[in-house]
Amino acid sequence: MLPEIALTQQFLDRFHSRFGSKPAEWHSDLSPKARERVWRQVAEGTVKIVAGARSALFLPFHDLGLIVVDEEHDPAYKQEDRVFYNARDMAVVRGHIGGFPVVLASATPSIESQVNADQGRYKRIKLYSRYADAALPTLKTIDMRRSPPPPGRFLSPALSEEIGKTIARKEQALLFLNRRGYAPLTLCRVCGHRFQCPSCSSWLVEHRFRGQLMCHQCGYHEPVPEACPECGTLDHLVACGPGVERIAEETEALFPDARIIVLSSDMSGGVKRLRLELEAIEKGDADIVIGTQLVAKGHNFPNMTLVGVVDADLGLANGDPRAAERTFQLLNQVTGRAGRTGKKSLGLLQTYQPEHPVMQAIIGGDAEAFYTREIEDRERNALPPFGRLGALIISGENRIEAENHARALRRAAPFSSEISVMGPAEAPLGLVRGRYRFRLLVHGTKRADIQSYIKAILSNGPKTKGSLRVQVDIDPQSFL
Ligand SMILES: [Zn+2]
Ligand SMILES: [Zn+2]
Repeated sequence: MLPEIALTQQFLDRFHSRFGSKPAEWHSDLSPKARERVWRQVAEGTVKIVAGARSALFLPFHDLGLIVVDEEHDPAYKQEDRVFYNARDMAVVRGHIGGFPVVLASATPSIESQVNADQGRYKRIKLYSRYADAALPTLKTIDMRRSPPPPGRFLSPALSEEIGKTIARKEQALLFLNRRGYAPLTLCRVCGHRFQCPSCSSWLVEHRFRGQLMCHQCGYHEPVPEACPECGTLDHLVACGPGVERIAEETEALFPDARIIVLSSDMSGGVKRLRLELEAIEKGDADIVIGTQLVAKGHNFPNMTLVGVVDADLGLANGDPRAAERTFQLLNQVTGRAGRTGKKSLGLLQTYQPEHPVMQAIIGGDAEAFYTREIEDRERNALPPFGRLGALIISGENRIEAENHARALRRAAPFSSEISVMGPAEAPLGLVRGRYRFRLLVHGTKRADIQSYIKAILSNGPKTKGSLRVQVDIDPQSFL
């Protein structure tokens, strides 16, 4: 299992050169015909190996004998619509039932898997050398308070200088920013009007290449207007903050002769184009690559020797229990794109908090210390894997109705010495696709049976009616 479809091609080629044949592919981008064929061959047992996304787990394997979950820490293994499940955990269950081994692979394992290995529930297999003798890049932070970018810009002088040196050596640079589009917020300089999605509580993101303002929650879009819809003033709309498109614009101005490729999941042309772009980068047909987390995963760019993280603090702003872990994993993965074939390489993190433990752990290369502290922290607060969490997400077209239903469910929660219920709180994304959202968080000790507890809440509480809906998310990975 692989977390990302776009990766599959490079992986399939590597697999082919190692084992002499390609595995069958399984992901949502397959044609119905290919889908039917793979399904049948798997059932008949004529396909030996499948490489696929999380849904590959549901193929009717004739005689499954091994599952390898690559990048096991990746949040993409969790499905969060319709049926909620974590494919990594389901793989472990399936291996247990079938009596076969499951390999969870990662350079930055999830805290859960790390603890399972520490406690001897999982067997740890260490790889002592990197693929193709790749040397780890030298990592440094750039303190944005001391080395700020020029006004209206986002790349500090220290970073742009290194980009210049890198491309002068005919090597490649990667600029990473986990934000699609041009700017995350557009406002009117005259009256202060902010462009918000009509059916979500999120700002519209400007996509300048397409000339649109887009909602990243529901896909709503409108053309970028010339005049402010509130005060009617012309040409006074201003873009606030950067997305990858804006970084591309800044980079083009700084390095007009450089060949620049922007990689983002919303590019036109879909997966096919993405694969071509990735191939082009691999072959050296780009000097500077600007990308979202799509580029962080698994790709081998032999000539890439500089990785610049535009906003290393971005993920830390999420107030969820895994913010530090996720940031640590993502930044490690991104900076690991440099120096894959042994060339001397550099990773630079632009940050306003260079003293933060996550930044310190990354530049100090001290993963052990980071895991130790993070595990202690989880244990102290009885957070997973030392405690159990479950979320109830209550939504409806009427705000009052949704909130009242959430309150009623809270009141229906039975007393338990092992389990407590928090909320209801308005979800950070309080409105999505015209539905108002509230959350209850169920927090139990490690031994608590939170599934039965939640079942009890639902059967004691009022039934949903009209547009009301309750979603249950056991071990939530997202708290939005
Ligand atoms: Zn205005
Ligand atoms: Zn929306």
